[in-house]
Amino acid sequence: MSDLQKPPGSSANAASNRSPSEIVEHVVGPVEWTEDTQGYCECPGRDQHTSRNGRRDCTVYLDHVPTLYCVHGSCRQAVETKNRELRRALTNDGEVSTTKPRRPTAAEKARLAQARCREGIRIRAARSRDRILKEWSWPLAQIMQDSPVTMPENAGDHWQPLLRRFHPDDVLWLGDKFDSGKPEHGWNFRTAREWLEGDAAPAPLICPATFQPGSINRSNENVVARRFLVVESDTLGKDQVGAVFRWLREKVDLALAAIVDTAGKSLHAWFYYPPPDVVDELKLVLPVLGCDPKLFTASQPVRLPGALREGRHQKLVYLGSEVQR
Ligand SMILES: [Zn+2]
Repeated sequence: MSDLQKPPGSSANAASNRSPSEIVEHVVGPVEWTEDTQGYCECPGRDQHTSRNGRRDCTVYLDHVPTLYCVHGSCRQAVETKNRELRRALTNDGEVSTTKPRRPTAAEKARLAQARCREGIRIRAARSRDRILKEWSWPLAQIMQDSPVTMPENAGDHWQPLLRRFHPDDVLWLGDKFDSGKPEHGWNFRTAREWLEGDAAPAPLICPATFQPGSINRSNENVVARRFLVVESDTLGKDQVGAVFRWLREKVDLALAAIVDTAGKSLHAWFYYPPPDVVDELKLVLPVLGCDPKLFTASQPVRLPGALREGRHQKLVYLGSEVQR
């Protein structure tokens, strides 16, 4: 392990009295260190980004060849220039080092290997983004045409088939945003069977998870099981986001239960909840593909089809045939 690979904050070398992390921050600005040898910083070519900026677009790696990597492509020139500057700064300081390198422990090695693996997945997804959006294109009209099950004619009835995708004894929360936390909110927690006894959509929102019987709080602690992972995007339009849904269904092999038109700007895809290792990967990949990570929170509510939103029905545009429980 050369002096360049020393973790941030370890003893500074004799010549400059600056640790590698200090040298890096001197060159690229403040770094949010996530591992001994990597962290996030602001992209030196941020001004040239042509798509939305994220807080974690640009990563600095200190192991092997010190490198900045940004998920955007439009800043490549600026990133390359900064990389040369970074390597020069670290080499100039590193050459005269006399300190003995510290050997990483087995736990540190494992942690770094895992972090590198996670980052690899994220980077691969970022590189594939444009290709996925193009090759797996699935515009809204085509989604509706491809639906294996025909939707009820009256959009006001669309909540029923979705609730039938749950187990009849599952306790579901349906309600409005703030219908949680007070004794009267026991009303909002009922089994799927009980909800289905009504004849109109009972509320505008639903949770894709199930709750403890007797809950009054729509909180993660009261979640019993996660039945669905709902994927949506704030940035991809209704004719674009289908590509991510189709890629998840055909390439990642997730089972697609339904797609909901939220009567706003977006579509929500309801996938049967995948196994934990797949969820871990999706947490890395989906944000890079432009999909909202807040839906990984168990108690996050989403739009219920069949309910009205500003005079327009939230509705099903796709309904899978199989029921998985
Ligand atoms: Zn960039």
